[in-house]
Amino acid sequence: PASGTGLNTTPLDVLADFPAIPAGWAYLDTAATSQKPRPVIEAITRGYGETYATVHRGVYQRSADMTLAFEAARERVARFIGGKPQEVIFTRGATEGINLVAQCWAATQLKAGDRILLSTLEHHSNIVPWQMVASQVGAEIDVIPLTPDHRIDLDAMAAMLTERHKLVALAHVSNVLGSVLDARRAVELAHGVGAKILLDGCQAVPRLPVNVADLGCDFYVFSGHKLYGPTGIGVLWGRYDLLDAMPPYQGGGAMIDRVTFAKTTYAPPPGRFEAGTPHIVGVVGLHAAIDYVDGIGLDRIHAHETALVRQARDALSQINSVRLFGPHDSAGIVSFAVEGVHPHDVATILDEGSVAIRAGHHCAQPLMDSLGVPATARASFGVYNGAGDIAALVKGIERVTRIFG
Ligand code: PMP
Repeated sequence: PASGTGLNTTPLDVLADFPAIPAGWAYLDTAATSQKPRPVIEAITRGYGETYATVHRGVYQRSADMTLAFEAARERVARFIGGKPQEVIFTRGATEGINLVAQCWAATQLKAGDRILLSTLEHHSNIVPWQMVASQVGAEIDVIPLTPDHRIDLDAMAAMLTERHKLVALAHVSNVLGSVLDARRAVELAHGVGAKILLDGCQAVPRLPVNVADLGCDFYVFSGHKLYGPTGIGVLWGRYDLLDAMPPYQGGGAMIDRVTFAKTTYAPPPGRFEAGTPHIVGVVGLHAAIDYVDGIGLDRIHAHETALVRQARDALSQINSVRLFGPHDSAGIVSFAVEGVHPHDVATILDEGSVAIRAGHHCAQPLMDSLGVPATARASFGVYNGAGDIAALVKGIERVTRIFG
């Protein structure tokens, strides 16, 4: 699709793997959720249509096999992010992973007067759970400002951190701006005052190679559905010593060691945090998604999306009325505004030309306040996008500027 557009990129040539993307449709909303490749769809179909049974309980062969598949997925996730299988907790998504850390770690470790450090660009799911726990224990929240080019300002972070800060929670990649955090430095700064650090990896794992051991963080969360996998499944990775010291999140089946009415004891992690029948086929689908992404290679995906961002930013910056947000080296995401046109109108007009972008506050209202806008238009890329999609986007924006004169 790159030919004839005047834009150069190295296409990954995987569009044919995605049956829900019809020819001529530019899907530019992968930061909200990614489309699903055939191997993931097939794994889900097989999971329900051929191999289905419960896990961890049945003594019959089918259930034992499903349990093996379920635990193989845990090992695959661990290998994918450089952790250990017993440190991988399956959740409904990143949101549940953050709430789990807020309620099981922060609510039990923080005291009145302690402080939590977040940044201006966080998704609501990396703000609200901390506000909830702060009001429960009497802790305070501080907010790291952004640099002029819209990165989390780590020099400001260094100046803000005190011994009272017990937890730092930051997006590894911003879902609005695509800004990539220097996570190693953020980890060093947090640990320098004895604080723990959680990284919200929702937008990072589909776009960059991530290794939690190299990063040195304490907790890492992501959602399967942004990683070309199913909805309703996500991952919380935590350092085992921290997880092992944490009380359970929810009570129920599967998370116990022994139950009596006098006293119940809990299973070790990760089982302790996985009450109830899990999203079995979701886990199997996530395994297939990780295999798919690793099969292409995150270095290649990152290079591809970085090239698309550069092309999109270069082309959009030629249009006078377009204002671009975020740093020039954003990972896979470009937020922008068209002067005098509400982002919803931009998205509606683009949709008429078969270009799907997101418009709104992107669950980051404090960031919108800091940018001084009510909303932005956001184009976000995935493995299936190519230069043709950017050409369609630019053509659509030119149409917007003509319509709104
Ligand atoms: N953090 C970031 C950076 C995100 O992009 C998202 C999803 N938009 C979330 C957290 C929440 O993820 P989920 O809704 O899948 O739990």
